[in-house]
Amino acid sequence: MMTHKLYYDDAYLREFEANVIKATSDYIVLDQTAFYPEGGGQPGDTGHLAGAEVYDTQEVDGKIRHYISEPVDSETVTGVIDWQRRFDHMQQHLGQHLLSATFDDVYGYKTIGFHLGKETVTVDLDVPSLQAEELQHVERVVNSIVFENRNVETRFVTKEELHQYPLRKSPSVNEQIRLVIVPDYDYNGCGGTHPLTTSEVGIIKLLKTEKVRKSIRLHFVCGLRAVQRWNEENKKMEEQFTELRRVNEARSNQLEQAHEQLHHYEVREWVDGTHSVIERVYENRSIKDLQLLAKLATQEQPTLTVRLFTVIPHDKVQAVFARGNDVDQDMSNHLKDFLETIGGKGGGQKQLAQGGAPYKTTVEQFTSDYLATK
Ligand SMILES: [Zn+2]
Repeated sequence: MMTHKLYYDDAYLREFEANVIKATSDYIVLDQTAFYPEGGGQPGDTGHLAGAEVYDTQEVDGKIRHYISEPVDSETVTGVIDWQRRFDHMQQHLGQHLLSATFDDVYGYKTIGFHLGKETVTVDLDVPSLQAEELQHVERVVNSIVFENRNVETRFVTKEELHQYPLRKSPSVNEQIRLVIVPDYDYNGCGGTHPLTTSEVGIIKLLKTEKVRKSIRLHFVCGLRAVQRWNEENKKMEEQFTELRRVNEARSNQLEQAHEQLHHYEVREWVDGTHSVIERVYENRSIKDLQLLAKLATQEQPTLTVRLFTVIPHDKVQAVFARGNDVDQDMSNHLKDFLETIGGKGGGQKQLAQGGAPYKTTVEQFTSDYLATK
């Protein structure tokens, strides 16, 4: 006696009663079942029978074996299938039908393989290569078919009736031929389980392709898998971004150190311990640069006073005045005095002050006009 396949009467049946026909320590055969056995690229269902875990379902000679983790000693049992997993399989499976149909319709590319994996679903397309534009186009078209909420019909037909249907390829079985039909779109011989409407697929996301022998293997996901995938990708990107930022920060710290080191060398060229006041005029240097030089110079020689200027030719003059710890002078006052002579403003502390003014001059002119120590 063949097992009656309740999943063909109702693909949404999650729980059922059945009589035990055969029970071994490994598996149980029932008179009827909602557990789908592995076939046609779709994995076998899992769930529970009379409290025992069903970890796989296989069909052998028309009898469906529920592989169990512990023996069941009962004449009738209640079966409960892992619905979340099964519905996911239904979504992926119908998604595959629609995707294969779309590739065939739009580009004439035939599907020659299908695998419903734990992570991704794959179809093998009989083409040597696929263009990114083709993938994008098919993704749009197939999702629009999903959104149209088309009905999905299933029907058992005889071999003689087959010619009435525009099948993409002839079925692999001769009797009990089951057709899965999306009217006006896809007619397919298939023994798997599918939702009753296309919208239940949710969304079809194409992921990547790889070359397998002479064909192209396309990975994709449907429904919640697509949502999960999106979350994972986001998390990955966030992690990569954090790592990039860390590397970037480390680099800019190194740069800053190298920058300071360079200024240190520069300062040592003119701080020789014999002068108590040093004045220097630069062209087109930033005030930040001048501040760093002043800081390093007065650290190098605590008895030193520095007056550093930068001239932006025919535009402005900026200045930084600073003193070492051993000098008792108010640099902000000194700076103010200087700035008054060129009509500028500034501020700062007793130890280091900075300021500037719009002032049309050149390094040469400024040096001869304003430097105290020439
Ligand atoms: Zn199918």
